[in-house]
Amino acid sequence: MIPITVVDVADAEPLVMEVLRSGVIAQGPMVKRFEDAFAEVAGVRHAIAVNSGTTALVASIQVLDLKPGDEVVTSPFTFVATLNAILEAGATARFADISEDDFCVDPDAIAAAIGPRTKVLMPVHLYGQMADMSRIAPLAERNGLALVEDAAQAVGASFAGNKAGSYGLGCFSLYATKNITTAEGGVITTNDDELADRLRVLRNQGMRARYQYEVAGHNYRLTDLHAAVGIPQLEKLAAVTEQRQRNADALSKGLADVPGLRLPQVLADRTHVWHQYTVLVGPDAAVDRDELSAKLTEKGVGNGIYYPKVVFDYDCYRDHPGVIASDVPVTARVAQQALSLPVHPKLSESDIDKVVGTVREVLGA
Ligand SMILES: *Cc1c(COP(=O)(O)O)cnc(C)c1O
Repeated sequence: MIPITVVDVADAEPLVMEVLRSGVIAQGPMVKRFEDAFAEVAGVRHAIAVNSGTTALVASIQVLDLKPGDEVVTSPFTFVATLNAILEAGATARFADISEDDFCVDPDAIAAAIGPRTKVLMPVHLYGQMADMSRIAPLAERNGLALVEDAAQAVGASFAGNKAGSYGLGCFSLYATKNITTAEGGVITTNDDELADRLRVLRNQGMRARYQYEVAGHNYRLTDLHAAVGIPQLEKLAAVTEQRQRNADALSKGLADVPGLRLPQVLADRTHVWHQYTVLVGPDAAVDRDELSAKLTEKGVGNGIYYPKVVFDYDCYRDHPGVIASDVPVTARVAQQALSLPVHPKLSESDIDKVVGTVREVLGA
């Protein structure tokens, strides 16, 4: 079986052992070292490590001091953490439909969703490619809105030379299957000194110095043990990303001209870091998405459906006061057609040949 994802952290052993032997295992010098390295990679002044991508999003919204009823406009085609974080922070979620070209929020749809209660725009840089920041950033600026980027899947990606997480508050996930990992963990990036300072306080029980509380805070701290896992990941990020890019190129060459299959596009001005390689299985393909997925699994080619439904289209959100459902036809259709194929850096050439050959075989190409 060719897996859809492979976790490779074996090289973390020396640093992890160093932490274990030191006895400083919670947030300490290793977290600081990880944050400094992350800030450099992300091209920002500050990186604040937290214990998940979800808490990175929650803290980023909370630090903006929204009032009840204030709205965050985001993508309806995303992992549920995006929505849950908005609700956890006490804000209201409104949705702008995506573009089929990059699977990210469509700037025109965002513009139409902005209303009197809108306070935050939260694009999701899905699958490793950034949303159209050349239009979304000016929209935020012109309307006096904060920008929180859900960059959980886009570490190292860029738009017109600007890195993911450098436009506003950038939220990254270090979950096991993301492009870099600490098992669980997250990072917030910003160039704003004051927000960075407040986020550090918020992360640690709202505490400025011992027992000196400034705000009602949280325990969102990352541990030195986790940071030790992440440091070698950051060191090899460039190489791992290049391997993902080579794999994506090989998949796109091999899958060109398969009837009914729409391949992922790298749009102008963007570098794609290929967290996922996601095709659309259209109505003129030999089989539909679900059947292609089942056949690939049967034949030993791992694959994933990210995501099977519009994010708010579940009973638990139906009557939720913090969820403003809207018509999102592009997302609804893409959720029926999207299928992710293995693109991870551990694929061999023969793995890629097998992925390509099996997809072509099932689709009769
Ligand atoms: C993984 C992910 C998150 C949440 O990150 P965790 O570290 O799992 O909490 C948020 N948004 C998106 C788009 C993700 O893929």
